[in-house]
Amino acid sequence: MDKHEKIFAYMAEKYGLIFGICDAKPLNIAPKTAPFVTKDFNRRINPALTLPNVKSIIVVGKGYAPSPFHNLSSLGCAADYHAILTDILKRMGKIMATTSIMVDTGPLMEKAFAVKAGIGFWGKNTLIISKKFGSFFNIGIILTEKELVYSAPSLTTACPADCNICIKSCPTGALDEYVLDTSRCISYLTQKKRLSTDEAKLLNNQIYGCDLCQIHCPFNGDILAKVKKSGIKFNPADISKLDRIKFNPADILKLDAETFEKQFGKTAAAWCGLEILKRNVQISQSSNFKT
Ligand code: SF4
Ligand code: SF4
Repeated sequence: MDKHEKIFAYMAEKYGLIFGICDAKPLNIAPKTAPFVTKDFNRRINPALTLPNVKSIIVVGKGYAPSPFHNLSSLGCAADYHAILTDILKRMGKIMATTSIMVDTGPLMEKAFAVKAGIGFWGKNTLIISKKFGSFFNIGIILTEKELVYSAPSLTTACPADCNICIKSCPTGALDEYVLDTSRCISYLTQKKRLSTDEAKLLNNQIYGCDLCQIHCPFNGDILAKVKKSGIKFNPADISKLDRIKFNPADILKLDAETFEKQFGKTAAAWCGLEILKRNVQISQSSNFKT
């Protein structure tokens, strides 16, 4: 281990992270879209268009516990990962030369760099599956001008050819092997500002997000078993000292801005706002949107 790897290993232990390091060469992925989006696409695959002298990419993964609720996803009831990961990445970035960090906010294809950095492999559910957290983790990225030692893959496996559990578990048919149709994905739809009647019918009683293509994945089995055994406060990465919120969908309709902030303010669900959550509860209660 070189000096930086030792520091990252220490921080990974301290904050319950996984991390991997790869070179900063552009990803070898061809655009599937029309030529007019090529400029944006290049920004997605080429780190040098974000940080001109970038040499290495550090990819960090932070685990979260699966949600104990049926209709509120894990991200909707855990502490907001944007803020937590950004804070950790800033601390890691401080020990290196010029850096740029991103947590869901930058142009780079974070999942593809996570695979390149050896954190995990692509699942057929289009998520990255890691050894420690299965698919229950968020990704953050540090770009640095320092030359670092690159990681070997932590998990050299792939989805079994005959496993299609995630595809069969998706209630809207949004998943095909390694392809997600976001226009049918409940996770996206629950956060969308305006829904057509056809889109509202797809929500499947979900209030925020959706974990259905993750919870039966065999690579997540161990994590789910631990949650079940330990109760809802279990957190595999110990990322959050917050207790998980108490949740009854109908209660959301009674919330005002102040109580919403108190109950959801520290979760990722706060990003989409109270009005959207109320709309989703109303859809779940209305027979007009049942198929
Ligand atoms: S998040 Fe839900 S709707 Fe989206 S692909 Fe997975 S199971 Fe389907
Ligand atoms: S459920 Fe099966 S096919 Fe889907 S991501 Fe998990 S291992 Fe891969």
